[in-house]
Amino acid sequence: MSRSTIISTIQSREPVSVTKPKDKVTVYYASNVFNHAAIKKFCSPAAFKAIKNAIDKSMPIDRNLANDVAEGMKQWALSKNVTHYTHWFQPLTGTTAEKHDAFFEPDLNGNAIEIFTGKALVQQEPDASSFPSGGIRNTFEARGYTAWDPSSPAFIMEYESGNTLCIPTVFVSYTGEALDYKTPLLKALNAVDKATVAVCQYFDKKITKTWSSLGIEQEYFLIDEAFFNARPDLMLSGRTLFGAAPAKGQQLDDHYFGAIPERIHSFMVDFEQEAIKLGIPLKTRHNEVAPAQYECAPMFEEINLAVDHNQLLMDLMDKISRKHKLKVLLHEKPFAGINGSGKHNNWSLITNTGINLLSPGATPQSNLLFLTIFVNVIKAVHDHADLLRASIASAANDFRLGANEAPPAIMSVFVGTQLHHVLNDLEKSTSDSGARSIGSIKIDKIPEILLDNTDRNRTSPFAFTGNKFEFRAVGSSANSANAMTVLNTIVAETLKQFKVDVDATIGKGKEKEVAIVEVLRSYIKKSKNIIFEGNGYSDEWVKEAAKRGLSNIKTTPKALDAYVSLKSEKMFIDNNVFNKRELHARHEIMLETYIKKVQIEARIMGEMVYSSIIPAALQYQKVLIDSVAGMKSIGIPKGKMTSQMAIINEINDRVTSIKTQVDKMIIERMKANKMVDTHRKAVTYCDKVKPYFDSIREEVDKLEFIVADNYWQLPKYREMLFIR
Ligand code: ADP
Ligand code: MG
Repeated sequence: MSRSTIISTIQSREPVSVTKPKDKVTVYYASNVFNHAAIKKFCSPAAFKAIKNAIDKSMPIDRNLANDVAEGMKQWALSKNVTHYTHWFQPLTGTTAEKHDAFFEPDLNGNAIEIFTGKALVQQEPDASSFPSGGIRNTFEARGYTAWDPSSPAFIMEYESGNTLCIPTVFVSYTGEALDYKTPLLKALNAVDKATVAVCQYFDKKITKTWSSLGIEQEYFLIDEAFFNARPDLMLSGRTLFGAAPAKGQQLDDHYFGAIPERIHSFMVDFEQEAIKLGIPLKTRHNEVAPAQYECAPMFEEINLAVDHNQLLMDLMDKISRKHKLKVLLHEKPFAGINGSGKHNNWSLITNTGINLLSPGATPQSNLLFLTIFVNVIKAVHDHADLLRASIASAANDFRLGANEAPPAIMSVFVGTQLHHVLNDLEKSTSDSGARSIGSIKIDKIPEILLDNTDRNRTSPFAFTGNKFEFRAVGSSANSANAMTVLNTIVAETLKQFKVDVDATIGKGKEKEVAIVEVLRSYIKKSKNIIFEGNGYSDEWVKEAAKRGLSNIKTTPKALDAYVSLKSEKMFIDNNVFNKRELHARHEIMLETYIKKVQIEARIMGEMVYSSIIPAALQYQKVLIDSVAGMKSIGIPKGKMTSQMAIINEINDRVTSIKTQVDKMIIERMKANKMVDTHRKAVTYCDKVKPYFDSIREEVDKLEFIVADNYWQLPKYREMLFIR
């Protein structure tokens, strides 16, 4: 399809009408989820109790009861026209995986019976050989298994052609090592629960369990499917490798929170309805800053569930967008020169007594608990900033971090003016004043001043926003489990050490409160250089951060080193999150993924240059040459053809430069491909291959500017971003 046909096709599209459910949201919310109500209805009371214990107390479910649960689950699913079931898991490929099995089995008499046993519910053995394992599993030992995670409820995915029951599972190798995102996350959540409870015990003996909450804001772009299909770069790498900046971008700020276009609105209503049925509590939708960019956000949930729901949401958005002839772009930086997309992770810790530990309390006593957790989180980020940076590293996020309107690769914490004062006061309060110092730093004043909700900083990668921290550097396509595994582990580690330090101080004869304040004071001193209240997008901050000695690791292969430093290794092992083999395997997989992504982009770039861009330029050049020849034949002097000649020459120069650079890039790629060491190979791809992306693109974008519009095949930025 030519560009002009694509555009007229798109212009004739009508919004796809969405059938509104007859019922109110409250009626169909979670109707496709095997939640407490469904379990109660379809399972025995004993099975119900077993699931509840599994969720609340991580108790294993015995085999007979598992059969019971499976039978109930099957009955529920059959009542909803389900024909197949699948273990649903999150391998390190970054997408979700399913292998569907039918519910029926032939019986001895040649009839079919519907069957689903506890064994099939609890464990499956998908062929794991084509999932990344970082060398843990040799291909001949292809077995890995998926095991039911009862803490995330089973759900039904609806398809035109039949419904499937999905059972959330972990995915581990035959030898027991984690091959997915969920397993280490669950372990990190366990670690942070234990460490937090131990510290909370100083304050309130009734706190015996805590859970981490996560609310994920998901940014995305939405363009017409016809544009997407006409751009090999978008199709294969998720981002545009070329494209001249449109005359109008986001400088007028007229898109942010503006009226949502009709077709887009239909899509949103449609996918929200589907999400609601799956129990994803979507609440917010709006336009984002860049043209064609949007955001949605559910209410926060327990982390494991929030992560599953976000993965599900991304799948759902993709599926539903196609129905509307649209395509969701989840890439961190689909278009150069305008904002990229993130996935803000709003995180907090909540107790079994119903207290949000990051919400300042009403009394000095509960405020000391708040300050304890607050300061420990800051110290965790300070002590493990490089690891936190590594947790969000990906080839795609490298294009976003530090570019237009995105947090830099420098980790820092924003706390807000009021809390900044509180921390200063606490740090400066004299050490011998003991418990009275709590009064003198006026901790009891916090709730009042915190009512100022305008004290926000949208340029900080890690910002305190009143009752939670918002980790904004996470990439839009990432599985949040990575970042959340690291965040919860470093907080667990820090809180554990805090307990040791406080106990030691108490051991020296100090009162408990005094000891806590003293340790907090020393923590603030040690970690305050990570606190930054200014504009994180500015060049001054880059300089200032360097002065403070904070890292600014711009590229993924180097950022990932922090995963395997001795310090991280020890911490992951001590907190039982990764063993050494798992950690190194994971590091290897992340490097391999990086290499593949850059490799794919380099290939597409070469292909597009040769098959589309150079031909378009030469065709147009030929028209000019013909024109010059024609003018000459009717006797027009050469001096009067300077414009034509200039364009002919410019095309010639740019085409030559593009071709030379693409060929050089291919040579660098070949050199890199010969490397055996994954780390060296990744660094080489990053330092030797990737730099060509910018220089080739620059020439191509200039060609796009001068080549006659009708010869250019690739949809242009202004079209993809503004036609809908
Ligand atoms: P903003 O970032 O503009 O403040 P919201 O207040 O709507 O936006 O919150 C954004 C996300 O943070 C939502 O998903 C919300 O549910 C979540 N959130 C709110 N409170 C918490 C909390 N205590 N823990 C985790 N997430 C939270
Ligand atoms: Mg936010």
